[in-house]
Amino acid sequence: MAAIERRIRYESELDPSFAREIIAFSGSPSLMACIQCGTCSSACPLSLYMDYTPRRIIAMVREGFKQEVLSSRTIWLCASCYACTVECPKQIRITDVMYALKRYAIREGVHPPRFPIPVLARLFYNTVRRRGRLTESWTVLRLYLQTMPLRIPGMSSLGWKLLRRGRFPLRPEGIRDRQGLQRVLRVVERQEVTA
Ligand code: SF4
Ligand code: SF4
Repeated sequence: MAAIERRIRYESELDPSFAREIIAFSGSPSLMACIQCGTCSSACPLSLYMDYTPRRIIAMVREGFKQEVLSSRTIWLCASCYACTVECPKQIRITDVMYALKRYAIREGVHPPRFPIPVLARLFYNTVRRRGRLTESWTVLRLYLQTMPLRIPGMSSLGWKLLRRGRFPLRPEGIRDRQGLQRVLRVVERQEVTA
């Protein structure tokens, strides 16, 4: 996929603290040592389909192109295969940077519109956070409603077959001690904020 060229940005529009935040999020201080050799992009099996290659993402994070990076498809197409991280001559943990960018984008509510992967990630997180367990049938249904509503009628016969075989539970699942789960998550989130 060709990179989407956007309008010229002025230095005052960039976010100079973005790189610092992503370094803290990903635990990858060597990010600033990138020499733009492009090894990560050539090692990445998915760079062909990305709007920005991994090399460009690292460069844009460093320079503070926050909106462009967070709304790119690249971070959601990353399959976490670690090929880039293994090959990087500067030991930059590019995969962890991608993870950090996904978490950041979900937190900020910024992602490509109607792109299913971030919507699924957010649904997954919110459901597990609330109920402690995921009910696949409801998750898939809500994913389609939010990203591909026109395809729902075409899925109805499959849904009906799954329902008849007991593979499409209508009752949302959940753990018993949800209060305990909330307490654990609150501690984890507090630690993330202070990290
Ligand atoms: S392989 Fe490492 S040093 Fe080379 S461009 Fe990618 S991140 Fe930068
Ligand atoms: S971890 Fe992600 S960015 Fe790195 S090579 Fe694999 S798919 Fe590409």
